[in-house]
Amino acid sequence: MQYDLLIKNGYVVDYASAREGYFDVAVQNGMIAAVESSIGGSAVQELDASGKLVLPGLVDSHVHASAWLGGSYAHTMLVKAGVTSALDMSGPGTSVLELAREYGTGLNLATIEYVRPGHTVSSDDPSSAELQQLITKVQRQGSLGIKLLGGHYPLTVAATARAIRAAAELGAYTAFHAGTAAHGSNIEGMLEAVELADGNPLHLAHINAYCRGTVLPEAEETELALKALAANPNISCESYLSPLNGTSAEIIDGLPGSMVTRRCLKTGGFTEDEAGMEAALLSGWAQVNYPQGQEMTLLTGEAARDYWRGQQTLVSVSFAVNPVGPRVRLATAKKADGSFAVDAVSTDGGGIPRNVLLPAGLALVDLGGLSLQELVAKISYQPARLLGLANKGSLTAGRDADITIVDRMQRSAFATIIGGQVCYMDGKVLGRGGRIITTAAGADYVRSQGLEPLVVDLADSSLLQKAQKR
Ligand SMILES: [Zn+2]
Repeated sequence: MQYDLLIKNGYVVDYASAREGYFDVAVQNGMIAAVESSIGGSAVQELDASGKLVLPGLVDSHVHASAWLGGSYAHTMLVKAGVTSALDMSGPGTSVLELAREYGTGLNLATIEYVRPGHTVSSDDPSSAELQQLITKVQRQGSLGIKLLGGHYPLTVAATARAIRAAAELGAYTAFHAGTAAHGSNIEGMLEAVELADGNPLHLAHINAYCRGTVLPEAEETELALKALAANPNISCESYLSPLNGTSAEIIDGLPGSMVTRRCLKTGGFTEDEAGMEAALLSGWAQVNYPQGQEMTLLTGEAARDYWRGQQTLVSVSFAVNPVGPRVRLATAKKADGSFAVDAVSTDGGGIPRNVLLPAGLALVDLGGLSLQELVAKISYQPARLLGLANKGSLTAGRDADITIVDRMQRSAFATIIGGQVCYMDGKVLGRGGRIITTAAGADYVRSQGLEPLVVDLADSSLLQKAQKR
């Protein structure tokens, strides 16, 4: 037997099969052919994984890879971070597909379309009919569903509820950055979002972002969030481990266009206007996302200010506003039945420089917060379930050969293998193109854009399944 790829001597960690130990992994025709303590025979390519972890490919359930947020850099940055599949959390979907075609590094990428007044809907109070029209249109354009941008560009309370209901009726994926015209992007907004979901499936984005201690002490907010999640199984969610929050630095009529940006400025003691943004950049509180080669890096000081001005303020910016307590608690908390309260650890990264699933996740393992298998559950198996990727998230024979080989000491990816192809190894990006994770409704459009569809049935998504069980 000659395999396409043979990974020898690595320390395999798989949550779904509860397998952990030294195993060889054989790959044939893009699938895992065998996982055994010793596999003989030859292979076209053999990788020695001695001293390394061999994990099912990482799945990041919250990234940005559109021209609006994240940009073309997401593809290189994600594959270097060990990610094999990801959900772009804003779109525009057409731009996500264009960038994937031009800059793809082999990733499986899903996208959902932002519901943004003046851009994809006419106002902050769109009717059910307008929302249904938008959802149907974006499903045909390859998106899994919609993203409500409440925290940044809120809808009215009633329209937010209408959007969640419309998406549920159309079987679409709905994610929500909590916040409406009535409540901000904080614990109040989070609890309001749970109410507005009214039993419908809802992916509440980055739970940690609502527990920054802006309303109550951060630990109290965190426990309130966990209590709401335990009582509402129709809500799925992720939480990230980076201290950095990413938002827009765009100034419109002298003020930051994003409410999140204004709040970040206030938190740092700056005025919530153009002068405050400039001062925050000069002081280092705001870090501009600055492109270097195929990656996005962080920049502060005069160079950051000049770049922001040079781009007519249309740049992304990062603020270190996420306190450590809620991040650790939300990543590790369990419900009474022993399952995780928060489905996945994500990054909110992609083209935003904080793709820390491995460095932060393994740090949490070293601190005893998660076992290695639990980390795999949170950064591969459970996020794969969320996206309806039934054949991913586990390292067992017959599954897709999406594999991340990890340098345990460096806490970084050594190799990223997607569908049996080595897309990244030892500092070099080797992958090209990629697949768009879409439903049957979007497959033709994805093909028409010169990309390969990976068709999922959202009935397989844990987001929709959990809501049905209720
Ligand atoms: Zn995001």
